[in-house]
Amino acid sequence: METRIEKITGNRAEDRKIIEEAAEIIKAGGLVAIPTETVYGLAGSALMAESARKIYEAKGRPSDNPLIVHISKPEEAENIAYTSDIYYRLAERFMPGPLTVILPKKDCVPDSVTGGLDTVAVRCPKNPVARAIIKASGHPLAAPSANTSGMPSPTEAEHVYHDMKGKIPLIIDGGKCSIGVESTVVKPVDGGVMILRPGRISVSMLKSVVDRVEVAKAVTDPEIAEGQKAESPGMKYRHYSPKADIILIDSGHDRFVSYVCENIKKGEGALITTEYLGKIRDLPEGCVIFDAGGTKLASERNRRIFSILRRADDLGLRRLYIQLPPSGGQFLALYNRVIRAAGGKIIKI
Ligand code: AMP
Ligand code: MG
Repeated sequence: METRIEKITGNRAEDRKIIEEAAEIIKAGGLVAIPTETVYGLAGSALMAESARKIYEAKGRPSDNPLIVHISKPEEAENIAYTSDIYYRLAERFMPGPLTVILPKKDCVPDSVTGGLDTVAVRCPKNPVARAIIKASGHPLAAPSANTSGMPSPTEAEHVYHDMKGKIPLIIDGGKCSIGVESTVVKPVDGGVMILRPGRISVSMLKSVVDRVEVAKAVTDPEIAEGQKAESPGMKYRHYSPKADIILIDSGHDRFVSYVCENIKKGEGALITTEYLGKIRDLPEGCVIFDAGGTKLASERNRRIFSILRRADDLGLRRLYIQLPPSGGQFLALYNRVIRAAGGKIIKI
C-alpha cells in the first residue's frame, strides 16, 4: 500500500479537502494517522471491530491493550459510555484537551476496541484538525499513538511515516505536536480519580476539580513484572523504547555530567539539560549530546523526549545516557516515560 502524507497548510478549502478524504477512508473502515496536541494518533472508527483489528495489526500492538476513543465534544461520550457527574466536572475544566477518562462502556463499542474490558477510555482532543476529522467522519475514533508498539510515540508526521509506511493510506501532517507526550489517563474512583498514565494534566491541576487524586503504583514503579495486574493494561509493557540501550542515572546534575564525560564512548549519546550543556568537555569523537531542554521546564522536556529517542535510533546509537528526572508536578509524565523506556533499570550514583 502506498502511504501519502498530506500537509495542513491553513488554506481553508485545501484543508477541508484533506479532512474530507480522511473522513471517507475512516467511514469505509480504513485508517488515517492524524495530528493531535499530544502525539500523532492512528485513527479508525471506534464502532467497527474491523478498524480496531487493523489498528492492532498496523501497530503490532497486543490486543489486550485497549484503545482510546476520541470524540469532538464532551457530550458525545453519551453515545459510547455511561457518564457521571465527575466526568462532566473534569470535562468542563480539561476538555477539549489532553485528558482521557475511563468510563463504563456501552454495547455499541466493540470488545476489540476495549481489549475485552467493560470500560472505555474517552478523550476529546483540542487539536482542531483532529476534531474536524472526528466530526466529518461522524464516528468516534479509536486512535492510539501512531507508532509501532513499543517504539517512542510519534510527535511529527515523519515519525509516523517511518513506522507506518506501507501499512496505512494516509498521514495528515499537522506539524509538531505542541505537548509531545500522551494524554493523562484517569479512572474515577470513590471521591476522586486515579491517574493510570501521567501527562500534561498534573496531579495539582486535577486537585482543582476533584478532592482526591491517587497515582497508580505502576506509574512510578520501575519494574512491572510480567503478568502483574496493572490498572491500565498498557502499563505492563516495555514502552517508548528506542533500539539504543538506555542507561538511566539517578543523581544530581553535576554528577550526571561528570558520569557522562567519564563513560560515554563512540556511538553513544546523552541527554543533557540546557543549562549543563556548557559543562560537557573532553568527549571522545563520534558520541552525540542532545539538548534535553531547560532543567526546570517540564513542558519543554516532555515535548522533546520522544523525538530525541527517535533521533538516537536514526543515528544508530548503541547506548543513551539519561538523567532520571524528578517525579513531581508535570515531571511525572517524563519520569514515567523514561523509566518505561529504560525497561526499569536505574543506576544510582
Ligand atoms: P495509547 O492508545 O497508545 O495512547 O495508549 C492508551 C493507554 O490507555 C494505554 O496505556 C491503555 O492501557 C490505556 N487504556 C485504554 N483504555 C483503557 C481502559 N478501558 N481501562 C484502563 N486503561 C485503558
Ligand atoms: Mg501508545
